[in-house]
Amino acid sequence: MDFEITAKDVLGRICRIETPHGRIETPTVLPVINPNIPFISPSKMRDFGAQAVITNAYIIFRSFGEEAIEKGVHKLLDVDFPIMTDSGSYQLMLYGDVEVSNREIIEFQRKINSDFIVPLDIPTPPDADFETARKDLEITIEREKEAKEIKGESFLVLPIQGSTHAELRRESAKKAKEIGGDVYAIGAVVPLMDAYRFRDLARIILEVRSVLRVEPLHLFGCGHPMVFALAVALGCDLFDSAAYALYAKDDRYLTVYGTKNLSELQYFPCNCPNCTKMEPDEVRELEKREREIFLAEHNLYVTFSEIRTIKNAIKENSLFELVEKRIRAHPNLLSAWRQIKDYSKILENSDPSIKRKFLYCGLETLMRPAVKRHLDSLKQINFEKDTIVISTDFGIIADLYLRPVFGPVPSELLESYPAGHAEIPDADIIEKEALETAVENLKELMRNLQGKRFVIYLSGRWKEFLKDLPGECEYVLH
Ligand SMILES: [Zn+2]
Repeated sequence: MDFEITAKDVLGRICRIETPHGRIETPTVLPVINPNIPFISPSKMRDFGAQAVITNAYIIFRSFGEEAIEKGVHKLLDVDFPIMTDSGSYQLMLYGDVEVSNREIIEFQRKINSDFIVPLDIPTPPDADFETARKDLEITIEREKEAKEIKGESFLVLPIQGSTHAELRRESAKKAKEIGGDVYAIGAVVPLMDAYRFRDLARIILEVRSVLRVEPLHLFGCGHPMVFALAVALGCDLFDSAAYALYAKDDRYLTVYGTKNLSELQYFPCNCPNCTKMEPDEVRELEKREREIFLAEHNLYVTFSEIRTIKNAIKENSLFELVEKRIRAHPNLLSAWRQIKDYSKILENSDPSIKRKFLYCGLETLMRPAVKRHLDSLKQINFEKDTIVISTDFGIIADLYLRPVFGPVPSELLESYPAGHAEIPDADIIEKEALETAVENLKELMRNLQGKRFVIYLSGRWKEFLKDLPGECEYVLH
């Protein structure tokens, strides 16, 4: 598969995937199309910003059979852009059984000329016991091997399973990589998202990304715009979801800050063509079918608007800032994101080291690789003087100035990224952790400069934090 990364930020990327039915630029969402009852016509999906769709090969197999093979899936859905077909695993999870074999459904997907085909993997639900999850995974791996042999010209999507067991998710990713797919897809996470278990979700994505460092990664069934920024920043490129339709059927309205019930909205907080044309009161008066379409269209508009916002953030290297704002929509998103501190190596390897801006958004900002990189770069500097002057006040001539978050900043770096380009609240008002981090960085640098004498000018709130510094220190309070 022709796949190119054109921009990177955090673990997120903008990628181009060339398919026989045109280019896909990720991150993007593939709206789910039910081939029997298309809620919004597939050809209209382009108008909302979709570049590809996903449909269910198992439903097509049962409902259309030979007709689908004669026409091909593109003609069947009346679209000329790329289509991914799912295999029936979702039905397997729902009903416990499907009336088709792995080989049959892969051959069928090939015959209907699907651009991306998916084997019939076993979707082990969250919290399954280890042995069950391991046995299911063995079957999935065998089916993936079989798929690789018979996939033909189509691109192969290899699902990653293993329930909530980190070890099994990694194992699944390793085995899938050995088999060799074109796209890798994290499966069976919808129950986690439905229960707002974003912490487990983020952990699974990070475990998979620690094995699959660059490969295209799809997150099956993720369709809520509230989660996209976090999932992209953790390394997901592709999403698919029926959320736009399922939520609409339930009178639910998607926003990047969460879900609203139509009944609780007095105003629409959105600028899409639908929300600027009608008031919530008027929409509540519509017939059920019309109301569903109104909401589904809004849900699609807000979905692709968020995708464009994320792509822009990747381009201007402000994805950390965007995620740190978005995770405030729900405490479970905050908990999910804070786990990046356990994966700092992966982040450091991927996140660009030079950016234009560094905007402090809260405690999570302290976990960005730029903070640690700043300290690493300080250790490379050769301080020739025997006495080093450190000041918390920019009005005093000093060798090092103390800033919250970063700690010591040499005067010659006061105009450079990150510390020099950082917008940070004043020391007298910022969270104490931002001062503690700064002091830790200072201590580590001072330990690195053994034998030097330090003169430290202290003012304001810094006085509380700058105690017990290593080495020979003279404190000047002012
Ligand atoms: Zn809207």
